[in-house]
Amino acid sequence: MEAAVGVCIIAVGDELLEGRTVDTNSRRIQRALGGHAVRTRLVQSVPDQPDAIAAALDQTRAGELVFLCGGLGSTPDDLTREAVATWAGVAVCPDDQALEYVCERFRLRGRPLPSTAALQGRVPAGLKALPNPVGSAPGLVGRLRERWLAMLPGFPLEVDGLLPVVLAELDAKGVLPTARDILVRRCAQVTEMEVVRLCGPLRDAQPDLHWSWWVTDWGVDVRVAATDKAGGLGDLGEALDVALGPLVFNRGTQDLPLVVQERMLQAGHTCGVAESCTAGLIGGALTSHGGSSGFFRGGFLVYADEVKTGLLGVSPATLAVDGAVSEPVVRAMADGCRERLGCTHAIAVSGISGPGGGSPANPVGTTWMAVSSQDAGGPTTWAHAYRFPADRERNRLLTVAAALDTLRRVQEFGADRDPWLLPLAWPAGP
Ligand code: ATP
Repeated sequence: MEAAVGVCIIAVGDELLEGRTVDTNSRRIQRALGGHAVRTRLVQSVPDQPDAIAAALDQTRAGELVFLCGGLGSTPDDLTREAVATWAGVAVCPDDQALEYVCERFRLRGRPLPSTAALQGRVPAGLKALPNPVGSAPGLVGRLRERWLAMLPGFPLEVDGLLPVVLAELDAKGVLPTARDILVRRCAQVTEMEVVRLCGPLRDAQPDLHWSWWVTDWGVDVRVAATDKAGGLGDLGEALDVALGPLVFNRGTQDLPLVVQERMLQAGHTCGVAESCTAGLIGGALTSHGGSSGFFRGGFLVYADEVKTGLLGVSPATLAVDGAVSEPVVRAMADGCRERLGCTHAIAVSGISGPGGGSPANPVGTTWMAVSSQDAGGPTTWAHAYRFPADRERNRLLTVAAALDTLRRVQEFGADRDPWLLPLAWPAGP
């Protein structure tokens, strides 16, 4: 097994320290490195100041791979090139290849070359310019002071566009060992603590493996990497699948919307949504990947009671007796949605996201969900109440993730099984 390469990520930009921009680039870089044997040792945000950039570079070690992102533009606050060059004791020189890449981008956009373009065609000696498929600033890669340096612009879209180009260059130089001994299990509708508990016996049995867990938009990811000390992973993958069971929605890098989409398309199924408290967020998530029109039929945004009645046929008497956040109402919403859209599955939600609107019987976080399906065995409708534990924003996101995972479970385990009888971490509602 090849040893993991240490990775450091330095995100440059005053806006990152002032809370105006959240550093998502570090995450993009780490995700792109997912299939490689790397261990991130340092992630740091620093201001647009040469001293701060140099101080962060001083924390990196010989042999490591160092990513810097931001400050490669042509405005006066873009100082990363100069700061790196000063730190490495090299000059920043005009580079024909870099300038050609910059000119090419402006040609492609049909725009005249600005007077500042030459700034982006300058490169610290020892680094190589790489073409940026999205923006004008070329990526820069090379070896300085016994580290491999990869410099990227700040715009997240440009980072996404450049990363494959940068990683291909690093691969060609033999900098990035491929990870042959890494397992990932992506789980939904579960807390981090519960995943850690379920993995406990396996972890105790093989303590030399490197285990990590983290919360994602969809639930919790588990990653296990072999270490030199532990040797390979053996049959840990199968053991993990047994331990985590139906919580696992993916064994790679796919997100939950993509998993649902692929299952729907494979089965030739279609789906629709009837959303009250999430007001369109579930439909938005289900259509976040290209090709979603192959399975997603549409939805109803039914916030007010009379709209639930008018669009989905929910009985005013049921709404009056049981309330909008209740099992009979979400069942009627899901059935009404499926029948009106003629789809295989419909998911409906009605909940109290907060901060107001809660009561002792239905506290903030109470969310009723129903899934109505029509398959060979005839129509079935299942319903469940969640009590999400967070604030309005997070409760709505938890609802979206739970709705998508419920659709995944119905696909995976069959519409004739109650998708909520499979283990769940959130306490059941009323
Ligand atoms: P330019 O100066 O030409 O705009 P640049 O390469 O110098 O490009 P920055 O100015 O640092 O890039 O950032 C460009 C945009 O990208 C800004 O809107 C900034 O908020 C955003 N951005 C910068 N760094 C990050 C980061 N780490 N994560 C997410 N967004 C970022």
